[in-house]
Amino acid sequence: MMIRCSIGTAKVLGLKKLKVDALPTTAYLMVGEHCQFNCAFCAQARESNARADLLSRISWPQFHEASFLEGLVHPDSQAVLQRICFQVVQDKVALEDTKTWVKAVQNKTNLPICVSAGPRTLQEVKDLLDLGIEHVSIALDAATSEIYGQRKDGSWTERLALLSQAAEQFPGHMTTHLIVGLGESEEEMAKCLQAMADKGITVALFAFTPIKGTRMEGIQQPKMAHYRRIQVAHDVIREGLGRADNFKFHDGQLTDFGISVDKLQAKRGGAPFQTSGCSGCNRPYYNETPGEELYNYPKDLTAEEVKAAWAYVREAKDQRKML
Ligand code: SF4
Repeated sequence: MMIRCSIGTAKVLGLKKLKVDALPTTAYLMVGEHCQFNCAFCAQARESNARADLLSRISWPQFHEASFLEGLVHPDSQAVLQRICFQVVQDKVALEDTKTWVKAVQNKTNLPICVSAGPRTLQEVKDLLDLGIEHVSIALDAATSEIYGQRKDGSWTERLALLSQAAEQFPGHMTTHLIVGLGESEEEMAKCLQAMADKGITVALFAFTPIKGTRMEGIQQPKMAHYRRIQVAHDVIREGLGRADNFKFHDGQLTDFGISVDKLQAKRGGAPFQTSGCSGCNRPYYNETPGEELYNYPKDLTAEEVKAAWAYVREAKDQRKML
C-alpha cells in the first residue's frame, strides 16, 4: 500500500530533504485521490485540473507503507510529532482504506489520531471513533448555507445537522474546518464560530487559497485585516472572553469585540494568530507562500509579529477606531 504525506511531514519522517522555517507538529497523511464532490476551491475536486498531488497549496508525495512506518517510529520524528491527521478524499473506498491505515499506525505509535473525512451518518462517525481515533473532522468549510451552495456540492444544513448530532453524541470528539474568504461577511463567520463553540465543536480556521486548475483559481485570498479580526473573534469566543451576540458590526465588518482591543492584546498576545484546530496541529504553509506574511502562525510569534498582527485588527474599513 502507498500513502501520501504532506511534503513537510515527509521531511519530519526523514523521507524528503528540504529546508523549512517550521516543521509540522502533526503528521498529515492523505488517503484517496480525486474526490466525488466538486468544491470550487479544492485541488482534489471532481472537475479540478490541478495537480493530483496537491491539497491546498501543499504537495503530497507518495511513499510505500514500510518506509512511511519506518519514518514514523524513528525517534527524531517522535520527538517532533504530537498528532497524526488523515485527510481523506471523499469516497467510500478511501474511508475503508483509512481504517486500515489507522490500525497500521496505532500498532506503531500512541500519538492521538484525527480523521478529517466526510462521514455521511452517525454510524460512520461512531465506527471511526470506535477505532480509538480522538477527533473526527466534518468540514463545513463555508460559514453559511448560501456560500456553501455557491462553492460546494450537497447541503450545508445536512452537514451541520450531522456535525451537531455527532457533537452531542460524542462530546469533545468533533472538529470542523472553516474557510475565511469564500464570500462571507465577518458577521456571518463570527456567528458561525459562536454556534460551533456552543456545540463544543473544535474549529480550525483556514484562509481561502487559490489553486491553479480549480474553479476559484482567479479569486484573491482574504485581506489580512479581515482574517486577523476573524482570528481574534474566534479566540474571544473559544476562550469564553465574550460572545458573538455582543460583538458589533458595521456593514458586516467587526468593529467591537465587547472588550477593548488593547485589553485583548495585553491578555492574549500572539495566541489568536497561531494555527487553530486540534492541539498540536500547526499546518505550516498550508495557506501561505514562504517569505510572505502568514495567515496562521505555526509557532510562537515574535514581539514584532504580535504588534503587526494587532495593528491589522485595529484597522477598520470605515476608518473608525476599534476601541
Ligand atoms: S485541525 Fe488539524 S489535526 Fe485536527 S482535523 Fe483539522 S487538520 Fe487534522
